Amino acid sequence: MKFQMSHDINPNALKSTNRIPVEKVADADFPSRSGHFRICGFRLAPGEAPEETAVVLVKGELRRGSVPLVRIHSQCMTGDVFGSLRCDCREQLEMALKQIGASESGLLIYEQQEGRGIGLMSKLQAYELQDGGMDTVEANQELGFQADLRQYRLPVGILQYYEIAAVRLLSNNPEKIRALEEGGIEVRERVPISATAEPNRERYLKTKQDKMGHLIQKNVE
Ligand SMILES: [Zn+2]
Repeated sequence: MKFQMSHDINPNALKSTNRIPVEKVADADFPSRSGHFRICGFRLAPGEAPEETAVVLVKGELRRGSVPLVRIHSQCMTGDVFGSLRCDCREQLEMALKQIGASESGLLIYEQQEGRGIGLMSKLQAYELQDGGMDTVEANQELGFQADLRQYRLPVGILQYYEIAAVRLLSNNPEKIRALEEGGIEVRERVPISATAEPNRERYLKTKQDKMGHLIQKNVE
């Protein structure tokens, strides 16, 4: 099921918006199980704070005027690598790779922002607090962080780098849509991404929905 986004298109949006300076540090061939990509390394230009890097998988030709399928994924070592059931990150990553790999053109932007930006060690401490009864938002706040520290300057800068004016965005997160549109990138369509139900992460998903405004629908497929 797909939703159409409402939007006012400003053809000069990209030009009139401040460019976020990014640097491509690498660009190589990348055959994978999900398809044949280019793999690229990006970082915010030196002097830009915070120091941030992202790995970008590029599918197909990104021609001017094309509307690629895009996923912005925040690194989750516990989910992406170890297959944690505390969250749905790995499933979302796999679904996104599969869909982008099958599309004509697309990008997976893998941001190295562990634990919604709080870092891996703090994320593990937050898990400990969650075991004591807190939800993800409360635990982050208890550790002195905002609920979600992620900024999307680097992904916006990367899309600007490729001169992408409009995307189909694989996301449930309204913050990402807002960040892209503020960066002059039209979200022509939001493509929902839903993990299957799993008792271990029911509360995690409910918190995303209730406290962070995520647009989650129960997936019966
Ligand atoms: Zn995760």
